[in-house]
Amino acid sequence: MTATHISRRGFLRTVVVTGGLFVGGALVAACGGGESAPTQAPAASGAPVTLEIGSKGDALEYDKTSFEVPAGSKVTLNFKNNASPGSGVYHNWVLVRPGTIDAVAADGIAAGEANDYLKPNDNRVIAHTKLAKEGETVSVTFDAPAPGTYDFLCTFPGHATLMRGKFIVK
Ligand code: ZN
Repeated sequence: MTATHISRRGFLRTVVVTGGLFVGGALVAACGGGESAPTQAPAASGAPVTLEIGSKGDALEYDKTSFEVPAGSKVTLNFKNNASPGSGVYHNWVLVRPGTIDAVAADGIAAGEANDYLKPNDNRVIAHTKLAKEGETVSVTFDAPAPGTYDFLCTFPGHATLMRGKFIVK
């Protein structure tokens, strides 16, 4: 017949309603007196993760629109351009910081083909492949950024509005 409550500050309170049974001491000890639990060991650093993505044939679409990887991963992403030979449809895969996708796309167009449609040394870009021609597979390996939700896109002119997705680090 004992009701226990945890206050907003995290301290355990025991209210003895009837019978005089006192269990609060043991519970407080088990809860560490309201202190937070021991910090968990971080995820193994550098655990390899391989991701595969391609374009949908000649369409200006990726065949995946989201990825999720554990924090601390060493990510290798392989992108295959599945466009028909001779179509002249090129693509890349570019991972960018939150809130920067449209600006990176616009600056990529301005940078031109000589720069693979990416502004050089752009600190909004976390990782990117080179431009893939029809049938070509390109790869990039990078450390997963801090936990959060990031965007990826193709910066080839005219593609970014259709070729984009979410990259989630947990
Ligand atoms: Zn593209």
